[in-house]
Amino acid sequence: MKSRTRESLASLLDAPGPSGFETRAAAAWRALAEVFADRTWSDIYGSSFAQIGAGGRPRVMLAGHIDEIGLMVHHIDEQGFLYVREVGGWDPQVLVGQRVEILTADGSVVGVIGRRAVHLIERSDREKAVKLKDLWIDIGAANGEEARRRVAIGDVAIIRSETLELGDELVAARSVDDRIGAIVALESLRLLSESGTEAEVVAVATTQEEIGYPSGGGARTSSFELAPDVAIVIDVAHATDHPTLDAKEHGEIKLGHGPVIARGAVVNQVLFRRLVETAEHEGIPHQVQASPASSGTDADAIFTTRSGVATGIVSIPNRYMHSPNQLVSMRDVEHAAALIAGFVRALDERTSFLPL
Ligand SMILES: [Zn+2]
Repeated sequence: MKSRTRESLASLLDAPGPSGFETRAAAAWRALAEVFADRTWSDIYGSSFAQIGAGGRPRVMLAGHIDEIGLMVHHIDEQGFLYVREVGGWDPQVLVGQRVEILTADGSVVGVIGRRAVHLIERSDREKAVKLKDLWIDIGAANGEEARRRVAIGDVAIIRSETLELGDELVAARSVDDRIGAIVALESLRLLSESGTEAEVVAVATTQEEIGYPSGGGARTSSFELAPDVAIVIDVAHATDHPTLDAKEHGEIKLGHGPVIARGAVVNQVLFRRLVETAEHEGIPHQVQASPASSGTDADAIFTTRSGVATGIVSIPNRYMHSPNQLVSMRDVEHAAALIAGFVRALDERTSFLPL
């Protein structure tokens, strides 16, 4: 499973897919799913589905969002420099000095993010955080006319980067949030296709999570279409095991210490307990995260679908979220898939999620 998961990771993590422009990443996800799923399809806003066991009970949705944060060109000046708006939430500090790939109708255009050199920044301004409006993309165009020939308003861009393995376990990539969740959904489905299950299980690579309000543009439409009885949302959670974070404020979540099971209002209480029991029963390391209000994940959109869906959230601990090098442990990825598959295997048509 290990090498298989890593192969899937490399092709998926590096495929571009900013919110609203997920088609290439979604196609890569469906290609992986077709190997073992009974059926795959997609909907008009780009969410992708992979199904096993049609007609089984309960119907289970495993959702991971396929979109990533990006940038969108909104102005091209007469000198040929591009100005951008954010697709999802960026810390502009991490954009300074990056190389980008702009996805145009005629293929990719590469560029660099420009900013005044340090020597030219007023001494008093050097302490201040840079804003997006102080940055631009330089594609090497001679003037505005040439830039507009190559790039159009509304084209989106991603940081130019490749997946990086750090040691045996850790992987860094720009799209970890939440491409890693989409692959855990797929890996869970693959495990269930091998072991069998009484449930109908549909893995869904949802779109537009990073810009949805409240979370989950694609999760909203795809969960309405599926009408699941049960849903597990797989996303990333802030690992707090690096310098400058305080557990008193942010809780304690560690990379490599197992998937994170959320507990709180969005999460069905019975489902939470069943996830923890599955982890304990199967000896899978896990961590619990408090989620008192909305979760900031697709779960917020899914649990209120129709008359309510029993929803849980399983997250992969992640350092440096929304940066070009978001770090996760492959051990957590594998444990998350094992946990979700184990949870689904224990379900049958009599399983009730009514809270007691
Ligand atoms: Zn995010």
